[in-house]
Amino acid sequence: MLKAAVLGSTGMVGQLFIHLLNEHPWFEVSVVAASERSAGQKYSEVAKWKLSTPIPKSVHDLEVMDITPKAVKDVDIVFSALPAEVAGKTEEDFAKAGYVIVSNASSHRMDPDVPILNPEINYDHLCLIDEQRKRRKWSGAIVTNPNCSTAVLSMALKPIYDEFGINKAVVTTMQALSGAGYPGVASLDIVDNVIPFIRHEEEKMQSETLKILGAPSKPADFKVSASCNRVATLDGHTEAVFVELKRKAEPESIIDAWEKFVGKPQKLKLPTAPAKPIVVRHEEDRPQPRLDRMEGKGMSIVVGRIRKDPVMEGVKFIALGHNTIRGAAGVGILNAECLKSKKYI
Ligand code: NAP
Repeated sequence: MLKAAVLGSTGMVGQLFIHLLNEHPWFEVSVVAASERSAGQKYSEVAKWKLSTPIPKSVHDLEVMDITPKAVKDVDIVFSALPAEVAGKTEEDFAKAGYVIVSNASSHRMDPDVPILNPEINYDHLCLIDEQRKRRKWSGAIVTNPNCSTAVLSMALKPIYDEFGINKAVVTTMQALSGAGYPGVASLDIVDNVIPFIRHEEEKMQSETLKILGAPSKPADFKVSASCNRVATLDGHTEAVFVELKRKAEPESIIDAWEKFVGKPQKLKLPTAPAKPIVVRHEEDRPQPRLDRMEGKGMSIVVGRIRKDPVMEGVKFIALGHNTIRGAAGVGILNAECLKSKKYI
């Protein structure tokens, strides 16, 4: 078994890492780390555990460590679920110390030598690690996963982009509360309400989507416009997407492209890869977060309601994905599996 550390282990994404890594066939959590508020104490005493399954026994009594390479030692891989404010420097320190770090934070996503990996789409971007090591003269590496809404959007667009080309994409999101971490948005702000603002989210969707869909060093050649909203669902981001196509296509051909889409993780049969990264629902009122977010154990995105768009020369549809699984810890673990398959760890 390979030993894993989770930085930011007490937060929403950190908890999902611990849950998903419990009984993972290749990785086991041997170190948990968080802020100085939690360091030195038992994990079960400081984590405000929000999942419906209990804290795994193997982690329950672990002492929480500081987020430094000195405190976190003897592991084969590091997962980071730190806030961006602390992730940037901390992740560099780990890469310098020789660790491969898989990060959920935005700090390094847009660095030209750091991949944003949504591996069914851009497994080949792992080649950026060699450039990163050469340029930064470190033996470790930083690999990021996309922002949670971008993980969903980029997957839905990938087969469309490959088969029909895209001139532009417009997306309006309805994002779940768990996306804001814990304690997140105050109940008095969100109950009976929609908040039409999520800081930095629109910029992330607009830039990360193109980096993921492009070549390793050249973003995709279309524009994305995003409008992001926080809504009162617990998990699962829903997105209304409008796409102007380069080449005319009927909705049926796009459904076909989605249904046959698989990526490298499926071909490699990686443990966290869902059988189908994109699941198409044909009912008139699906996908819905409560009903569809756990598709493929939370690793599939679900699309539906595709129809011709009367304004754009193209189509509109709804896409949905689990923000802390496909959009965070789940894709982070799948990325670690890809790193192992390419012998980076
Ligand atoms: P969260 O619930 O607020 O958890 C933050 C974690 O980081 C906690 O373990 C916290 O430890 C630790 N931390 C906070 N400040 C720290 C500091 N100064 N030094 C060391 N550790 C510190 O946040 P989250 O939702 O899990 O998000 C974690 C990261 O993932 C963020 O970068 C976020 O943008 C990204 N992300 C989140 C989602 C999502 O759906 N939630 C999706 C994709 C990406 P203490 O408990 O000790 O304070």
